[in-house]
Order: sequence, then C-alpha cells, then structure tokens
Amino acid sequence: MKSGTKVKNKMAKIIAKSRFIPVSEPNIGREEKKNVLECLNSTWISSLGKFIPEFEKEFTKFCGVKHGIATSNGTTALHLALLTMGIKEGDEVIIPNHTFIASANVVRHCRAEPVFVDCDPETYNIDPKEIEKRITKKTKAIMAVHLFGHPCEMDKIMNIAKKHKLFLIEDCAQAHGAEFKGKKVGSFGDIGCFSFYGNKIITTGEGGMCITNNRKLAEKMQYLRDHHMSKRKRFWHDEVGYNYRMTNLQAAIGVAQMKKINKFIAKRRKNAALYNKHLKNVKGIRLPVEKKGCKNVYWAYGILLDKNFGMSRDKLASELRKKGIDSRPFFYLMTDMPPYKSNEKFSVGKDISRNGICLPSSSMTKESDIKYICDTIKKLAK
Ligand SMILES: *Cc1c(COP(=O)(O)O)cnc(C)c1O
Repeated sequence: MKSGTKVKNKMAKIIAKSRFIPVSEPNIGREEKKNVLECLNSTWISSLGKFIPEFEKEFTKFCGVKHGIATSNGTTALHLALLTMGIKEGDEVIIPNHTFIASANVVRHCRAEPVFVDCDPETYNIDPKEIEKRITKKTKAIMAVHLFGHPCEMDKIMNIAKKHKLFLIEDCAQAHGAEFKGKKVGSFGDIGCFSFYGNKIITTGEGGMCITNNRKLAEKMQYLRDHHMSKRKRFWHDEVGYNYRMTNLQAAIGVAQMKKINKFIAKRRKNAALYNKHLKNVKGIRLPVEKKGCKNVYWAYGILLDKNFGMSRDKLASELRKKGIDSRPFFYLMTDMPPYKSNEKFSVGKDISRNGICLPSSSMTKESDIKYICDTIKKLAK
C-alpha cells in the first residue's frame, strides 16, 4: 500500500469516528425559544395559558376535525381515549402485534385485554383481513396504528368496526399529516391520538393530543383529563379522573412547530425519495412503500432485509454504527415480550420484526448524510 493511501485511509477512519448521524433529531428554532420564554416571563407555565387552546386549534385545523384535547404525552392520549370509550375489565381491544408497546399497555391500563393481529407484508400495518377472525363477544374496539407514517387501510377497517358496532381508535403517533384517500389520519375513527415526543414529526418535548368530531366524546375527555372536575362547581368531582393535562410550556413549543409541520413532512418525503433512488438496486433490500391513494409521511424510513442481502439486520446495524451511522430495529412483536407472551404464530410480523431496520431520517437529516449512508450500505452489501 502506498503511504499516501495509508494516510487517506487513516483520515477516512478519523472522519467516520467523529461523524455521528442520529436516527432522528428534533428541529427546534427561534420561534420555539421565543414562545417558551414568553411563558416563563408571563409565569403561565402550568396547564393554563394561551398556548394550549391555540395549539389545540391549530392542530385540529391541520387534521380537519372539530375538537382537540391536548395531553401530557401520547400514551396518556391513548389511555384517555379508551377510558372515554368506556373500555373496562373484561373487554377486548384489537391491536396490531407489531407496534410500540404503548398501544398495548393502555389497554391493560384499563384492565382490558389487547388481542393481537398480524400485519400486512407491504405496509407493516394491521392486516384488515385478519381482524374479523379475532372479534369475539368481548371485543369493544379496534385500534389502528399508522406505523412509520403509512396510513392503515381505513375504508376496510371502518367497515369492520361499523358492521360489528365497535369503537375505532387511531394511534397516529407516527403519522401526523399522513393521508388515506385525501383525508388526514386521526379523522376516521371515533378518536385519533397523537404523540409529540422528541422524535415524532412535530414535538413538544413530551406531549400528546386526542382529536375527534364527536362533541360528547370531546367533553368527556376534557373532564377526565382534569380530574373530572365539575365545570360549574370548583373542586366537585362526580367521577375518578386523571391529571393528563399538557402544560403551556409544551403547547408553546407546539404552536411554533405547527408553523413548520408541512415543511417537516415534505423533508421526510424528500429523504425517502432520495433513499429509494440510491437503494433501489441493492439486492436483498425491500424499500418502504406508498400504496395507491395513500400519503406516507415517512416518520421512519424502514427497510426490510432478506437472505440476498448477505448480512443479518443486527450485523448491519453494528457495521453502520462503526461508520457513525445510527439506526433502529423494527419493534419486537408484543407477543414475544413477557407482558403479552403468546405462542400463537404471527408469520408476517415475525419476519419484519427480525429483519427490519430504520435508517436516519428526520427534518434535520442532510442530503449528504443520506448519500453517505447509502454508499456505506452498498459497500457492505458487496
Ligand atoms: C410514540 C408512540 C406512542 C407513545 O407516545 P408517547 O408520547 O411517547 O407516550 C404510542 N404509540 C406509538 C405507535 C408511538 O410511536
């Protein structure tokens, strides 16, 4: 080896070492700081203050629904929705097996049982064909989770819910702005739930929201979020409620984020197109899809490896890590983990859970980083 090449290689290693591309990064600008400072200066830092109704108004307008109930996080939003639907001990709620565990946990928080359904091999979302097989006399609701930013097949799922008189709840934590047949997710079911955690499409640090077009459900959620405090008689409570309120500080960030949400989504879609362009000819990689009539907001850019790739998912993750590239595996199946352990077969879920990996993609990801990531993957694939 010539000494010049040696030096070059050494330099490349140092650069790779100092480089770190996170899988996701929040996008916080001047407006967020200004709004938070305004809260601090005004001392309206708890769950009263002008930013909360403003954030609810902006977000519901964006989703095309009537009511928004901001919450402390996405998990409390889901729990609030199920409580409002009256889900209780002895009830069953149908949910996808491949999801973030909060979707399942909130069912248990109501002392009800989640019933798991396998996923669609293309979108990784709940497979509508499998839902009806799981409906029993105890079933009260279906939870559709729009995974990684791709909407579920809402027409089919709504028909099933209607036919069996079930509540429909949408977990939209990963899909702000995603559309099915021109309509935004969260507006199909009885209640749609969002998260504004730091890695979501918009963030409030921690935060969540329930949205609905049903005034009665909205009112119930407002009560339950605030200790079920009477609106006429202060400190009078007819029922056991919760403190699931969002703070003005969180909403202040949210209001600023809402001004940029369409830009954030456009950037994630651009990232996905760039990845697709660079990775489409690599053997053994299945790219994410955008089904006809759907708008995928690509919260995560998830690829699926098969035997032809020549390396396991975990090996790829560790090789990428050596080159300063962060990634994250798809979720473990709920039925593989102790709280929900079951020996039933979920063949689609098993494959994607084992072989799926999400690559860095957020509104902060640079085009040059995506090029570097794809080049690195292509070299490893050889
Ligand atoms: C993030 C997420 C949640 C929970 O939201 P938190 O704000 O973290 O409580 C629920 N469901 C899904 C699918 C998520 O991705």
